[in-house]
Amino acid sequence: MSEVIALARDFIGRQSVTPEDAGCQQLMIERLEKLGFVCEVMVFDDTTNLWARRGTAAPLFTFAGHTDVVPAGDLAQWHTPPFEPTEIDGYLHGRGAADMKGSLACMVVAVERFLAENPDHNGSIAFLITSDEEGPFINGTTRVIDTLAARNEIIDMCIVGEPSSTHHVGDVVKNGRRGSITGDLIVKGIQGHVAYPHLANNPVHQALPALAELAATTWDNGNEYFPPTSFQIPNLHAGTGASNVIPGDFNVQFNLRFSTELTDEDIKRKIHSVLDAHGLEYQLNWTLSGHPFLTDTGELLHAVVDAVEEVNHQKPQLLTTGGTSDGRFIARMGAQVIELGPCNATIHKVNECVSTADLEKLTDMYEKVLEKLLK
Ligand SMILES: [Zn+2]
Repeated sequence: MSEVIALARDFIGRQSVTPEDAGCQQLMIERLEKLGFVCEVMVFDDTTNLWARRGTAAPLFTFAGHTDVVPAGDLAQWHTPPFEPTEIDGYLHGRGAADMKGSLACMVVAVERFLAENPDHNGSIAFLITSDEEGPFINGTTRVIDTLAARNEIIDMCIVGEPSSTHHVGDVVKNGRRGSITGDLIVKGIQGHVAYPHLANNPVHQALPALAELAATTWDNGNEYFPPTSFQIPNLHAGTGASNVIPGDFNVQFNLRFSTELTDEDIKRKIHSVLDAHGLEYQLNWTLSGHPFLTDTGELLHAVVDAVEEVNHQKPQLLTTGGTSDGRFIARMGAQVIELGPCNATIHKVNECVSTADLEKLTDMYEKVLEKLLK
């Protein structure tokens, strides 16, 4: 069995459901210490993180990823036990195979191969590994980044191993991500009997025209790398359940996935102006999950594009679609950030799997990136 697949299987066999790490990082530490990495375990509350670095020189190149996985879900629907790695027809099955224990194995083996040939490389190589990427992302990458920044240890370039690909590994790399902001709105009315509306004030009636205006708003047209900003209402709630009571409050939640054409401040200003223009009485609380980021140029992007092309004989497509990732915290440092990982077709689903041939190719791609940047 190849060393990449053997290591991926070792990771999958550990039940590391968020925020558990289940010894995955220890496995990495054993491999990395042998290579001369200084390994620092950073525990924040329930989350175990690993910062491992080899070398002190700049530039600081980092592989980032997570050892935690989402729960298996309905076991009856799995064809193989989710935490027993199983190979079927060229695919390695198990929870986390694609998101992202396969990538972790590729990173470790790529670094081992690179160092065997280039023990005296330029710059530094690091691993930033968390066990809470699939959870509330409070005690993971963001706190490691804060710790590094406080001691002026700045990441210059970072590959995140999230499953970026669509049909085969490297057909898509993500060179940015949209921002995400959620608004929790409470529109205030006056509760009363539906038969006496003049004694009440229905917050649903007050709010609907404003919500219709927001839903119909064109926020921007996107740009070369980002689709247009989208506004969606995932949750609405009002009423007591009784058919004869006008509700006193109307709770509305909306989320925007936004491009680099807008800032969170632009969005807040626009939404407040619409709500105010409709004369609503309201409270509005904001949660910013991440600013958008973009790596549209630089040596990392060139190295990744060239490495993928050398392995696949085809250039990758650069996209910023999909959900947020921990790349947003790393980009905050000013780092160039690119996501390159296997196919995402089965992530978070039952019967998650990854092509073993793709993991071999991904290892080659990671090794070539190291050669291009640090040899
Ligand atoms: Zn992931």
